[in-house]
Amino acid sequence: MTATSLSPFTFNTTASIVFEPGSAARLGEIAGKRLGGRVLFVTDPGLLKIGLADAAIASLKATGVEVTIFGEVEADPSRATLMKAVEAGRGASGVVGFGGGSSLDVAKLAALLIGSGEDLNEAWGVAQAKGPRLPLVLIPTTAGTGSEVTPVSIITVGEEEKRGVSSAIILPDVAILDADLTLGLPPAITAATGIDAMVHAIEAYASKSANNNPLSKMLAREALRLLGANIEKVIANGQDRDARGAMLLGSMLAGQAFANSPVAAVHALAYPIGGTFHIPHGLSNALVLPHVLHFNAPDAAHLYAEIAGDCFPALDREEGIQGRCAAFIEELAALSKRVGLQTRLRDVGIGEDALAKMASDAMKQQRLLVNNPRPVSETDALAIYRAAW
Ligand SMILES: [Zn+2]
Repeated sequence: MTATSLSPFTFNTTASIVFEPGSAARLGEIAGKRLGGRVLFVTDPGLLKIGLADAAIASLKATGVEVTIFGEVEADPSRATLMKAVEAGRGASGVVGFGGGSSLDVAKLAALLIGSGEDLNEAWGVAQAKGPRLPLVLIPTTAGTGSEVTPVSIITVGEEEKRGVSSAIILPDVAILDADLTLGLPPAITAATGIDAMVHAIEAYASKSANNNPLSKMLAREALRLLGANIEKVIANGQDRDARGAMLLGSMLAGQAFANSPVAAVHALAYPIGGTFHIPHGLSNALVLPHVLHFNAPDAAHLYAEIAGDCFPALDREEGIQGRCAAFIEELAALSKRVGLQTRLRDVGIGEDALAKMASDAMKQQRLLVNNPRPVSETDALAIYRAAW
């Protein structure tokens, strides 16, 4: 173990985690009492349309709970949407978030703003939220963001500025992991969100954060073991319940890891791709992943070598730190291709002339860049984008 294992740290996570296929249909039984008599149920229009939330909503109603459904969450949710959810939930006694990272993020802040009456403008940033929030249950329907165990909510303000609230107060009371909800996810979303979860684990493990800690490291390794062994299985057969469960669990473990040992330059360089070109978060990460790791290798090769075999067991046979690190980066790039993701920035419609602005935008993500194992300048960022182009 490195010296960080003996350093002081704080570890926060969701108090209660239910991992069980079909458990969303028992939402009322699991959490009805805790949520109180009037629940705001936050989700998105697509999930409502296909009826994925029906059983969960019915189970709440069956316990006598009055349910207000807010089903208008969009990808990269806006402040306006959040405020509409808060308005819809006035007087609620509890909040349920059901969906991908966007719905869970909106639910977290709706629970905070309704519960405390505080001003969102004073809650942005780290540990600024005051609380208390309403009782909160989160039910993810993708295996990737780990939002059900992270203290963070990201909201788009204005045209494309993303702001975040990071506070242990918005960790939910209960996370319900029901792999059945993920059976119908299309391959493109499965692949992008799965790679995103792997990035969470890799960046958490190698994070230079002073709060990097033995729990995060252990969780990151188990996450990589589950994600690495199952991502191709769920692409080949989306109905594979065991593999879907492993992906959901792996993504949660990665979420617990990075919630307490934050992500770094892969995410910092992915944000300008997502923000300007509206490329999904997971794909944005996948596009820069091998190139950022290659850049980091001079300072982080020993860390990548430690986890290479968790993700790709065959790499345990690679000799030496440098060889194992290089093989790990190559395998990650090859994996993105095998699961069907585009691999170059030019493939997703980004022109070479856009790279300079992206590099300058990436520099705004200092809260993430400070965690990177190797310092990243604007020149470095541009070189990484060029390599990824
Ligand atoms: Zn991510």
